[in-house]
Amino acid sequence: MADNGACAHIKGVKDVKKAKRRECEECVKIGSTWVHLRTCQTDGGTRCCDSSPNKHASKHAAATKHPVIASAEPGERWLYCYPDDEMAEY
Ligand SMILES: [Zn+2]
Ligand SMILES: [Zn+2]
Ligand SMILES: [Zn+2]
Repeated sequence: MADNGACAHIKGVKDVKKAKRRECEECVKIGSTWVHLRTCQTDGGTRCCDSSPNKHASKHAAATKHPVIASAEPGERWLYCYPDDEMAEY
């Protein structure tokens, strides 16, 4: 990461994991819908953002302590760290 303001979690992401499928894997199971998608940088799972009714990305981060997500939206190139509330473009 070139961004010097980023936390150690974000700096530790060397290869940004991209969404394997453009869908929230949790919403698909329960037949729900989402607004935006985020990809966990620890396990590569893609889940929905805080604007979505189920907020699966945040819930996953809280439950697993996986700190960093990447936006899975086309054209967006940023990472976000939950524990540090840090965002960095890549
Ligand atoms: Zn961090
Ligand atoms: Zn979801
Ligand atoms: Zn994860």
